[in-house]
Amino acid sequence: MSTDFEPEARTPATRRIFRLIRQRPGISRVELAQQAQLSTGTVTQIVKRLRDEGLAREGMSQSAGLGRHRVGLIAESESMRLLGVSVRSDLLRFILSNWSGTAIQERSIALSPDSDPGAVIERFARSLGEAHIVVKAIGLATPSFPVAAREAGDGYAQILGKLLGQPVLVLNNGAAAAMAEEWHWLDHPPTRFLLVYFGAGIGGALVHPRVGGRPPGLHPVEIGHIGIAPEGERCRCGNRGCVELVAAPAMLARRVNGQDGSEQERLRGIAEEAMIYALTSAINVLDVADVILAGLPLPLLERFYGDLTRRLGQLQTPDGMWVRPRLSELGDMSAALGAALAAADAWGGSVGQKVVDRNKEGAQ
Ligand SMILES: [Zn+2]
Repeated sequence: MSTDFEPEARTPATRRIFRLIRQRPGISRVELAQQAQLSTGTVTQIVKRLRDEGLAREGMSQSAGLGRHRVGLIAESESMRLLGVSVRSDLLRFILSNWSGTAIQERSIALSPDSDPGAVIERFARSLGEAHIVVKAIGLATPSFPVAAREAGDGYAQILGKLLGQPVLVLNNGAAAAMAEEWHWLDHPPTRFLLVYFGAGIGGALVHPRVGGRPPGLHPVEIGHIGIAPEGERCRCGNRGCVELVAAPAMLARRVNGQDGSEQERLRGIAEEAMIYALTSAINVLDVADVILAGLPLPLLERFYGDLTRRLGQLQTPDGMWVRPRLSELGDMSAALGAALAAADAWGGSVGQKVVDRNKEGAQ
């Protein structure tokens, strides 16, 4: 799906400089040279090209997220937008953002089992064309399982690509959410973190932030398919006793539906224990202390998993570090936003898309 990006392929150095300008609105040429570890001469040449293309300009940054306004280089073009779409069995989310990842327009559409996500996506894409919105990069985040969901995702990408005349980067919801989180926590990023994504199922990614303006390394982690019960039911992945069978949000919502209060409490208690088992395994295997919980707003997370956040803080890594759990502030918008940001990274070259192209990374 991720083919034929802009014809004038950009060099890795150009892509790093452009990413730094997008990520740190108001950055100066001197700071760019320091952070990208390039000479000021090279930076000056690259910035000139980006300015000629209308991708960067001098100006005052408007990024409220960084808590300051600076005069320097910015990549906020009023006429260009990034589009991120996340598809889950229960929810479709669209985000139009600027190059710096600030959402300009958002839309959420709840899906029922009879909904046709393809038709909704098509209507949305046509409405952008009618409003003369120029979309420069498009990312689509989909569930990892089952295979049919991934194939459906490829079909939606084709619809978007055809109607908007741009290639579409397809990645999984967990990796996309991790991308948004790494971007969002820019000023105080954990060095390396595990993102747990609660969609209809449970996914995630291990993230290695990179230096010099490079996109982070994203390694999908199938948290939902960590086995916790050897004699358990057969899961859709083919193994037995996966944590998703008792703890996935969609599964849990179905199981508690129509039960009385005490039975609901019991099922939720099982889900909380199951998540603690699975995350203890993941934290020990990956040796990671920073854990970010994403995909569900806090009230829902508490409703499904009770005390999960506090209990994670009582775990230790193999090195004896206390686990630092954190809730995403992006709620259920993180996957759509991350898809848009990943597409912007992949725009103009093939380096960024490699880490997120799930077809090359095996079954995510
Ligand atoms: Zn499974």
